[in-house]
Amino acid sequence: MTIKEAQEQVDRWIRTVGVRYFSELTNMACLTEEVGELARVIARKYGDQSFKEGENCNLEEEMADVLWVLICLANQTGVDLTEALQKSFEKKNQRDKERHINNPKLH
Ligand SMILES: [Mg+2]
Repeated sequence: MTIKEAQEQVDRWIRTVGVRYFSELTNMACLTEEVGELARVIARKYGDQSFKEGENCNLEEEMADVLWVLICLANQTGVDLTEALQKSFEKKNQRDKERHINNPKLH
């Protein structure tokens, strides 16, 4: 699935099953909530906290939840994520061209 296809599929789902998009502000709150859920899983898998009995390490699920809401926000604000990611690569390739190579902490 390409990023474009993901944006289209989420849009189709929202307009049929989901009826309509939540407002941008609601989705921003939902995104924050999902990032928190992802942080919780990472704190337990890679950090010092432990899962409670019966709790699963649903890293993939939480990443997908974050991506889903981000795609919703992109769709309802008219952002083409493919184009945005390409621009981000261009920015990083120019601005950060030697930044990380010259960082002794990374070697
Ligand atoms: Mg979640």
